[in-house]
Amino acid sequence: MKPLKIKVIENKELHIKWDDDVETTNELKTLRRLCPCATCSEQRINQSSSFIPLYFEDQIKIEKIFAVGSYAVGIAWKDGHNTGIYEFPLLRQIALASNLIK
Ligand SMILES: [Zn+2]
Repeated sequence: MKPLKIKVIENKELHIKWDDDVETTNELKTLRRLCPCATCSEQRINQSSSFIPLYFEDQIKIEKIFAVGSYAVGIAWKDGHNTGIYEFPLLRQIALASNLIK
């Protein structure tokens, strides 16, 4: 399972076409909220269930996307946060989960 094509749409959504014919769309703010880096993961653990995520524009806009080995993509956000490495299965999971919620 690998992305064939990764596209950022209007700096709001990340669209991925996968090699098994699946296409997923992730909202950038969802990706930022679920940033898998150690710092963000720890913050999420400490948040109460009533926490409402609020973001500045720069935190949910992508500056750059880069390949990490052949298993993940890294996202550098405009606010300078760039330690989030999103493994392919995670991107699929997030897209699937948010589609179910909609
Ligand atoms: Zn993070």
